[in-house]
Amino acid sequence: MPDSPEPPSSPAGWRLDHSYARLPKAFHARIDPTPVPEPKMVVLNRSLAEALGLNADELNDAAIFAGNALPPGAEPLAQAYAGHQYAHFAMLGDGRAILLGEQITPSGDRFDIQLKGPGPTPFSRRGDGRAALGPMLREYLISEAMQALGIPTTRSLAVVTTGEKVWRQDGGLPGAVLTRVAASHIRVGTFEYAAARGEKADLQALADYTRQRHYPEVEGGYAALFEAVMERQAALIAKWMHVGFIHGVMNTDNMALSGETIDYGPCAFMDAYDPATVFSSIDRNGRYAYGNQPRIAQWNLARLAEAMLPLFHDDEKQAIEIANGMISGFEERFQHHWLTGMRAKLGLFTQESEDKTLIQSLLEWMQETKADFTNTFRDLTQGHLEPLEWQARWSERLKRQPQSASEVRELMRRSNPAFIPRNHKVEEALAAASEHGDLNPLQRLMTALSAPFDHSQDWPEFSEPSGLESYQTFCGT
Ligand code: AMP
Ligand code: MG
Repeated sequence: MPDSPEPPSSPAGWRLDHSYARLPKAFHARIDPTPVPEPKMVVLNRSLAEALGLNADELNDAAIFAGNALPPGAEPLAQAYAGHQYAHFAMLGDGRAILLGEQITPSGDRFDIQLKGPGPTPFSRRGDGRAALGPMLREYLISEAMQALGIPTTRSLAVVTTGEKVWRQDGGLPGAVLTRVAASHIRVGTFEYAAARGEKADLQALADYTRQRHYPEVEGGYAALFEAVMERQAALIAKWMHVGFIHGVMNTDNMALSGETIDYGPCAFMDAYDPATVFSSIDRNGRYAYGNQPRIAQWNLARLAEAMLPLFHDDEKQAIEIANGMISGFEERFQHHWLTGMRAKLGLFTQESEDKTLIQSLLEWMQETKADFTNTFRDLTQGHLEPLEWQARWSERLKRQPQSASEVRELMRRSNPAFIPRNHKVEEALAAASEHGDLNPLQRLMTALSAPFDHSQDWPEFSEPSGLESYQTFCGT
C-alpha cells in the first residue's frame, strides 16, 4: 500500500505492516493468541521463509509459530466476515485464526502472516479456536503441492504442535498451529459482511483497499474491479479442473478476492475421471462436486456482485442490470481458460474449432472406462497409452500443426503432472505423523510433490490411484 510506513526489521527478518488494520473498525477485532503449554516445531518451510525475506535459521522458534511469543511489530487481529455456507448466509469471522500482520518482502510484496489454531477470538462462537495436527499438516501438504503445480494458492510457513489435546468427534487429537501465508485474506464473505451491515462507506473502503492491494492495474469503476476479480476466479477454477482438484467446501467465505486457492479442508484430488466426484463427507448433494466447481464459482461471484451493488450504480435496478451482464460472462471466461489449458495438456499449440469435441470425447472415454485422470494424461505425455480409436484422431490433429513432436512432448510435460497428492498417500503420511510422530512418509511425499512435472522420476508408489472408491474427507478442524 502506498501509504504504509517503513516497517521495522529484525534479525529474523520480520518487517510487518498493518494495512488491513487501517480499514474501518468493523472489519477486525484486536486479539492476542492464547499461549500453549509446549510449542514444538513439526515443519518449517525454509524456501518460503527465504522468499519472504525471513532468515530460516533465526526462525527455528516454535514459540512464535505457536503464538506464545509475537514477532517484532506484530499487531494481532481477527478478521470479520460473513459467508454463504452451503448456500445459507451466516455472519462468521476468524474463529480460529489470528493475523499477525503483513510481511513486506525484499522485493516489496506484501503477504498476510496468519496463525490458524491460536485460540479463541471474538468470532469463535462455540468453537475452541484450536486446530488438530492432521488437518494442519494436510493444509501444509496440499497447499505446497498446489504451489508446485503452478496454481495460485495460500501457502504454509510452519506447523507446530501445542502440547495440548483438542477434542473432536474422534476424541482427543494432538493440537497444532499452522502459519498461513496469503496475498490477503479478503474473501467474498468480507464483502458480504460489509453489505450486510449496510454502511456504504465501509463497503467502498473495502473495495478501494482490495483494488489497491490486488488490482492496482485496474482502471475504471467498481464494475471493472468486479470483472477483474471474476477473470482471476475463472482462471483459477480452470486450473483446478486441469489437475482434478476438488476444493470440497467452496463456501463464499472460502473464496479469496486475490484469486488464490484458500482453506484446505475436505479437499482431495480425483482419481478416476467422473464429474460427479465428491469426497467431502458432509457434501451429500454434491454441491461442491468436481464438475460443479465452475457453476459454484459463478454462484459465489453472484453473491459478491450482490454485495457490491451499491458501488455499481446508485439506482438499484441499473446496478442489478450491470451485475447480471457481468455475471453472465463468467461461463465464457471459464471456457476460454479451460480450453486453453486442455489444449496444452494435449500438446496443441494451434486452435481448431473441433478441439473441444476432441477433448470431450477423450473425457467421455475416460469416464466410461473409469480411467485415472492424472495417469491418462501422464501416459499420453509419455507415449505409453494403449492404442485406441481416439488416439488416431489426436495424431491427425497433431499433424495439422507446425510444431515438432519434441515441442509437443515438452508442452505436455509442462502441462500434465506425473505426481499429484494421491488420497491414500496423503492419509498414510498424516496418520504416521499425527498418530506415531513419524514424519518420514510426509517428507517423502512432500519431496515427490515438490516437482510434479518431473517425468524423469519413476515413483510408482506415488502414481498409483488408491482404488478406494469410497474415500471420504472431513471438514477436519
Ligand atoms: P471453515 O469451514 O474452516 O471455512 O470455517 C467456517 C467458520 O467456522 C469460520 O468462521 C471459522 O473461523 C469457524 N471455525 C472453524 N473451526 C473453528 C474452531 N475450532 N473454533 C472456532 N471457530 C472455528
Ligand atoms: Mg473458511
